Amino acid sequence: MTCIFCQILARELPGEIVYEDEFLAVIKDISPEAPVHLLIIPKRHFDSVNSLDEETSQIGGKMLLAAKKMAEAQGIQSGYKILINTGRDVGQDIRHLHMHLMGGWGRKPFRR
Ligand code: AMP
Ligand code: ZN
Repeated sequence: MTCIFCQILARELPGEIVYEDEFLAVIKDISPEAPVHLLIIPKRHFDSVNSLDEETSQIGGKMLLAAKKMAEAQGIQSGYKILINTGRDVGQDIRHLHMHLMGGWGRKPFRR
């Protein structure tokens, strides 16, 4: 099966890889919806969160920690959003588990 994210991580397709370790890679989203928009992608192929189980659940923690570290590295630790689209009903376009990390809008105005 060909999967665009598996191919990017294998360097068979171009992609801007900004971080990589044993378990996951982080790439820049090709069509950013925020000043900082990264995708945290496990190296092992899972279609979505629905493919995780007890044995593989630790990948979720690794992705979350990578998001925190990337937010620090990008200087957006004062505010960021994390999103995992899961399933066709919410328009998950790429069927390889990935976490969106978005931020960099600057401080929202203070409201009482
Ligand atoms: P999702 O709806 O969660 O599956 O989102 C897929 C995301 O992948 C979208 O934000 C796309 O802009 C992004 N994307 C699609 N193709 C590429 C690519 N070749 N390189 C980087 N990001 C991509
Ligand atoms: Zn894949």
